[in-house]
Amino acid sequence: MKYQYIVTGVIFWLVLVTASAAWNVSQIQGAQQQVNLQVARSFFELITTVRAWNAQFGGVYVPVSATTQPNPYLQIPDRDIHLSNGSVLTKVNPAYMTRMIADLAQVGNQIRFHITSLNPINPGNAADPWEADALATFELGAQLEASHWDGQAQTFKYMAPLITRSSCLQCHADQGYKVGDIRGGISVTFRAQPVNLWPVLVSHTIIALVGLAAISTFGRQLVRAFADLERQSQIDSLTQLHNRGYFDMYLHREFLRSRRQLSPLSIILCDVDYFKSYNDMHGHQVGDSCLRQIADALTATMKRPGDLVARYGGEEFVMVLPDMPAAGAIAIADLVRAKVEALHISHKGSAVSNYVTLSLGVATSSDELKEAALVVRADHALYQAKQSGRNMVVGATGSSQMVVVAEPHLLDS
Ligand code: GH3
Ligand code: MG
Ligand code: MG
Repeated sequence: MKYQYIVTGVIFWLVLVTASAAWNVSQIQGAQQQVNLQVARSFFELITTVRAWNAQFGGVYVPVSATTQPNPYLQIPDRDIHLSNGSVLTKVNPAYMTRMIADLAQVGNQIRFHITSLNPINPGNAADPWEADALATFELGAQLEASHWDGQAQTFKYMAPLITRSSCLQCHADQGYKVGDIRGGISVTFRAQPVNLWPVLVSHTIIALVGLAAISTFGRQLVRAFADLERQSQIDSLTQLHNRGYFDMYLHREFLRSRRQLSPLSIILCDVDYFKSYNDMHGHQVGDSCLRQIADALTATMKRPGDLVARYGGEEFVMVLPDMPAAGAIAIADLVRAKVEALHISHKGSAVSNYVTLSLGVATSSDELKEAALVVRADHALYQAKQSGRNMVVGATGSSQMVVVAEPHLLDS
């Protein structure tokens, strides 16, 4: 796992939290619109109920005062009644009453009612463009209410139609209305409390930050654990050298690089001589310790950062030497051979030395050689080294021609 997984996790988390915040905000705004709608419907219901109360009496009489003047648009004989005490009563029909209530409500600046029609008796009751649109849709029968939220002014506007009842015809029959006709509408406009989005934004910011901290902490732990695992999967536990899997990957990479750079690449295969009998004589534990000593000696021979030494399997080791021609690789192989022998690890079961020794096969890449053939060639050279007496280096240069570069040591007498 690399750090890009953490970055992906962070991006995914931020997208998730942002989407959640956006969804919560839209839910809250939707809920507020529902509340506004219910409030507006209640106002509308209240007004129409009061109007129905008025209409059932064919209008109600109220005293004329400086603020309550007779309705000039109400053309009926008994509109005004003059009492014996000198005061005058005037008839207030539902429309006039609605206007008076609307004026009263507007004083408090909380709510505005507007009784309107596409065909008003009182020109002052003409519809504004939004109301005219709403009335037109009502008349088409498409819908029986309209609402609009003005986010900038934080005002909610609602309108529903006034449907002609029989009691309305006393005044409106002249206009040609029948029961059930839409005669106009009442719009209700009020300021709504702005929605408080801070709790959602603050809580989501906290959630996002906690999540980011968790992703970063656990992500880095995971990256470390993954790097450890990756390292362990590439290391041989006995010798602490790189293992066969890593060697395969490394050789492939270096092989391609050597091809690109037209530089020679050499490998050295090493095999412990008569190791089975070493185990048989000294036991597996001592055999393991011997392999570790050889591994350390091989590692100590590596000089360049690009050189690799790995455990090839069992008692076999391999070295990868990028940018190393055959002659240099053979020289290094012989150095390794001499170094291991110089460890003076006593080996009574060996037929070639008193000490543990290696046989080594060297191969170097050439133009026509494939990657797999390089290993086969080194293996073949190693086989020749075994056949030729062990404790020696055989280099495979060109075709399959073998060059013995180090003669087997004579057994110490
Ligand atoms: P040659 O000179 O032809 O290579 O003979 P050899 O005995 O070394 O080769 P052979 O393939 O017959 O035996 C290899 C031995 O290496 C057998 C096995 O017990 C031993 N071996 C392989 N892996 C390990 C290991 O991890 N620890 C120990 N102690 N021994 C191992
Ligand atoms: Mg072997
Ligand atoms: Mg061996």
